[in-house]
Amino acid sequence: MVNEIIGGTHLPSGMIEIDLELCKDCELCISVCPHKLIELSDRLNQKGYRFAQFIEKNVKKEVKKCSGCALCAIVCPEIAIEVYRG
Ligand code: SF4
Ligand code: SF4
Repeated sequence: MVNEIIGGTHLPSGMIEIDLELCKDCELCISVCPHKLIELSDRLNQKGYRFAQFIEKNVKKEVKKCSGCALCAIVCPEIAIEVYRG
């Protein structure tokens, strides 16, 4: 049987969910994501803000995946971001 983890290294992975109705378009999460995986939507939430959205599925392969670092959730003043680590 072949080990999937070689040399004791294991790349972390994660994903986030953003509550679009809590978002107030401050862009802090966008500025801190090391892999540029968050952008503003073209649409508005019910309060009239353009909301942030997770775009990992849309980015090119050379862009890294979400590491679950949680920087985006930590800086969000509206506590609109949940981070899941796999
Ligand atoms: S958890 Fe880290 S890598 Fe993932 S979207 Fe947030 S800031 Fe980016
Ligand atoms: S940090 Fe929070 S409130 Fe600001 S844009 Fe991101 S999700 Fe919206």
